[in-house]
Formats: sequence, structure tokens, C-alpha cells
Amino acid sequence: MNHFICRTCGIQYEQSILPPDSCLICNDERQYVHPKGQSWTTLERLIQDNIYKNDIIQDEENLYSIHTKPNFGIGQTAYLVQQNEFNVLWDCITYLDDFTVQEISNLGGIDAIALSHPHYYATQVEWAETFDALIYIHEDDKEWVTRPSERIVFWSGEKHELKSGLILHRLGGHFQGRSVLEWQHGNQGLGILLSGDIIQVVQDQDWVSFMYSYPNLIPLPASKVAEMVEKIRLMKFDRIYNAFHRIVKRDGIAAVERSANRYIKALKGKLFET
Ligand SMILES: [Zn+2]
Ligand SMILES: [Zn+2]
Repeated sequence: MNHFICRTCGIQYEQSILPPDSCLICNDERQYVHPKGQSWTTLERLIQDNIYKNDIIQDEENLYSIHTKPNFGIGQTAYLVQQNEFNVLWDCITYLDDFTVQEISNLGGIDAIALSHPHYYATQVEWAETFDALIYIHEDDKEWVTRPSERIVFWSGEKHELKSGLILHRLGGHFQGRSVLEWQHGNQGLGILLSGDIIQVVQDQDWVSFMYSYPNLIPLPASKVAEMVEKIRLMKFDRIYNAFHRIVKRDGIAAVERSANRYIKALKGKLFET
């Protein structure tokens, strides 16, 4: 029996003898099946291959990013937030080896794993079992869990406080239960928003964008973007980290507001003449 992993999205499935027929995540229009076809691996195989290594970098006080090199799957970055001996892993990556376990243990381990949306579920259950942590997922995304576990806590409603000043907010958009993590004490008390890819920091890192599907470039409706901005205005943060280690360093709320205005203008045909 194996826990198979889709090579394109990096998501692990519940135990089976043969690989699944297809990948639930990749067959959705927010992802894609690789042009060369569906392929599978396992975590044991990835470790044996000895190609990958996780880079663990301190970005600032009490915040570390974890990224696999070379890229595997979608290639996202996970973050470890430390707050008063309560460590949260924000989003997850597939690769987990002894080196990573040792390094993360040296940083105090993981108490909770919180997920922005299904694209980053990765091997979340392996991480939760290794570090004896609970996994927090919005109940609206329950159907996308490919490896069920008693460690998964499905939260509901519009927000969920993991610990004082560490708050999950459902924003929807890219996925129904799509969430962000507001970390009020980060950035020396100015606050940090860990946005996954719901608020996507773009190449020009003073700006963000919003999409229903990134690989297939399907935009979100203007009304949904406006609604997300209304919720974000009420949060406390100055800096934004996205899932690809791009950072809006300061005035994060203003960056979201002006980016949303530009996006809505573009959708309405008012941004430029063609
Ligand atoms: Zn997949
Ligand atoms: Zn995504």
C-alpha cells in the first residue's frame, strides 16, 4: 500500500495499492493535467531519489520560509510562524525528509498547520503526524481533501482564531473556503498577512492580483474582488507574503486597495484603450 502523490500538483492521496485513476485537483479547471499525462510518485521515492532539499530561511523575526529545491509540484513556499511557543505552519509543501524534521524541530516544531486552499494540501497529514499537529481547513473545501485524517479540524464561518492575534479569515474567491492568515504580532507589531495565492503578490511587488485560475488565467468577478477588499480593510497588517515568496514590504492594505481598483477598472474596460 502506498500514499501516492501527484507529480504535477504535489498532493498526496489516501492509501491504495495502485495509483488513483486521476488527480482530483489537477482535473479541475483551476489546475491542469500535465501535457505528458498523469504521473505519480511517493514520498519514500522522492527521498530515495535524493534530488530534493528544503531551503529553510529566516525571513524576519519569528518567520521562516520553507521551499523545496529544485521546485516540486506547484512549487509553493510554506511558512513557519512562531508566536509564544505556538508554531503555525502556513500552507504545506510535499517534500519532508529527516533534515527538514530536524531543522523544524530545532525551531520548536509545529503545533498547527493552517491551509489557504486545496492546491497546497501537499503531504499535510505526513507533516501533522510527524510533528503531532492539528490541520485547520475551512469546511467549504472539505470535498478537496484527498487524504482524510482525524487530525483535520474543519473550521466554519468567516474567521477562526488559532491563538490570540493569529486569525484565519475565509475570503473565498479562488476556492469557496479560500483563506488567509492575519498575524497581528508579526513585523514588530505592524502585522503580516500570509495570503497564499488569494491575494497574489505580482512581479511588481508593490501590487497584487486576484484570479480564479492562475495556470489557466481565468479572472475573478469584479464584485468578488470588491467584497474581498472590504474584508481585508478590517484586518491589521502592513506586509504581505504570498505562496511564492513574493513580498509587499509595506502599506499592504493600500497595495490591495489600489490593485483591486486597477483590476476592476480593467475588467470593466476602463483601464486602457485598445
Ligand atoms: Zn494533481
Ligand atoms: Zn491555488
